[in-house]
Amino acid sequence: MKFEQYHIATELKRSLDELGFKKPTDIQFKAIGPVLQGNDVLAVAQTGTGKTAAFVIPVLHKLMYIKNPPKQREAKCLVMVPTRELAIQIAKVFRTIGKYTKLKTTALLGGVEQEHQIEQLANGTDVLIATPGRMFDLIYQKKLDLNKTEILVLDEADLMLDYGFIKDIQDVIKFLPDYRQTLFFSATINSEIKEIAYGIVRNPIRIQISPQDPISKNITHFVAHIEMDDKRYFLERLVTEHPEAKILIFVRTKVRAERVASAMERVQIKALTMHSGKDQSERAEIMDSFKNGIVKLLITTDLNARGVDIPNVDYVVNYDLPEEAENYVHRVGRTGRGVQKGIAYSFCSKDELPVLKTIEQYLGNKINVLDIDPETYSDTILFTEEVNDSNWKALLKENEALEAKKSKKSKKK
Ligand code: AMP
Repeated sequence: MKFEQYHIATELKRSLDELGFKKPTDIQFKAIGPVLQGNDVLAVAQTGTGKTAAFVIPVLHKLMYIKNPPKQREAKCLVMVPTRELAIQIAKVFRTIGKYTKLKTTALLGGVEQEHQIEQLANGTDVLIATPGRMFDLIYQKKLDLNKTEILVLDEADLMLDYGFIKDIQDVIKFLPDYRQTLFFSATINSEIKEIAYGIVRNPIRIQISPQDPISKNITHFVAHIEMDDKRYFLERLVTEHPEAKILIFVRTKVRAERVASAMERVQIKALTMHSGKDQSERAEIMDSFKNGIVKLLITTDLNARGVDIPNVDYVVNYDLPEEAENYVHRVGRTGRGVQKGIAYSFCSKDELPVLKTIEQYLGNKINVLDIDPETYSDTILFTEEVNDSNWKALLKENEALEAKKSKKSKKK
């Protein structure tokens, strides 16, 4: 079924059409109907499956026809998220899909002045997206009132637990009315998450996307057996052979990130790095350049493995395998998003073989091996030398031409 045929407001259909969203993704197909009907939902879906729009579309529709619009300091829908980046990203999706509605979306994040946020809340908001810290601050200051909130969305609940926000989830419930709709989203599920989820949802519709294979079917992923010292040649080859491709490269540490970037610089390949050593404003700038495609290569630590939506990543490269098996899923999930296709390569050295085994156990199946015959392997290592060689020759030629010009001029004199 296409979005055109859904019983949702024409204002939403119009923006979905502009975004190029024609048909729902799996999670949207399964979640939109039940949410519109007022059910609680418990969904296990990774990022990249279109799960944000799976709650944004029906929530916006419901808010358009709500009986009691928000009054001062009230929020009709609260979306609680673990990180600032996610809050900004989700607010953007609400604003984009809701652009032809009159609904107001407000994001509450720490790390910035609260005055402007208080002003935004003064007359109430339809949607509030918040990280826990600032939200509780404003509740205690009586600048935010969740008493009339009708919908609670918990996104990336597993990450909330990893970040130690478990008590915040339990606490926020005390400020919300008992009679509400709760939508609970998590990329992974275990007994701890189940216990929390069942403590806050009522008779939920349970949705699980690709339970057998945690990697989205839009992503083709391979492991390539490459020795540690040779990895840069293979990365260089991938970049050189796909000059237009947007490539996200994961490494283990920030020192490694800088080292790989320098190795690329030496062969005239421009790359940005992103890790915990960058401050907030640098991070925003780097992400913008990569998102907008100004720079096509981003070398990052696992800081960027989860949640963040970067459009049109063609390749993910695990330059180093992730130490946490779970992060493999999150890393490769940065490509092949929505209805797009993506490719992920993992460079695995001999030392990393035990890590590969753990990842495969976690995935429940083996990762296809990219066959590199010995000739291609040595060609790839020679590739750099050849490229440098030809650069060198070009340089010599240029120099010769310059010299010839100079001597012509001096003869004329
Ligand atoms: P998410 O899993 O919410 O992070 O979404 C992943 C990506 O899929 C985002 O870039 C969305 O813009 C895109 N997307 C979501 N729903 C659709 C759809 N129905 N058709 C095409 N792209 C979509």
